[in-house]
Amino acid sequence: MDNDPKPDPNCLFCKIVSGEVPASFVYRDEDVIVIDDINPVAPQHRLVITTKHWPNAARFAGSADPAVVARFFSTGAQLGREQWEQGDRLVINTGPAGGQTVDHVHMHVISGRQMTWPPG
Ligand code: 5GP
Ligand code: ZN
Repeated sequence: MDNDPKPDPNCLFCKIVSGEVPASFVYRDEDVIVIDDINPVAPQHRLVITTKHWPNAARFAGSADPAVVARFFSTGAQLGREQWEQGDRLVINTGPAGGQTVDHVHMHVISGRQMTWPPG
């Protein structure tokens, strides 16, 4: 895959990036958006989403501009720190067994309650 994937017209997150599907935006720049998750699993639950249609973390990390990969990760880590001083959890689900339901790379930033381990 080249490093300039085209939007997928059937992809929910591409539609949120383009504005076709509305979302509660927290942040936006050229490389990433941050939105509130529609079905939060904790008091704070946001999603960091690439503006380009990378189908999963491996394809993104392997083919995208390293500066964009860094931006994606630092956006999630900084947001987590800002959301709750007591801590946070950053999650990237990959594939059916990993629990990925939207095939466009995104990082969950979850906080506001005590997390448990192992995850379900
Ligand atoms: P995954 O299961 O792929 O790791 O995460 C997908 C996430 O997208 C889920 O947490 C789900 O609640 C969220 N989601 C699904 N549809 C929408 C939507 O239309 N808007 C928003 N803001 N989040 C969504
Ligand atoms: Zn997409």
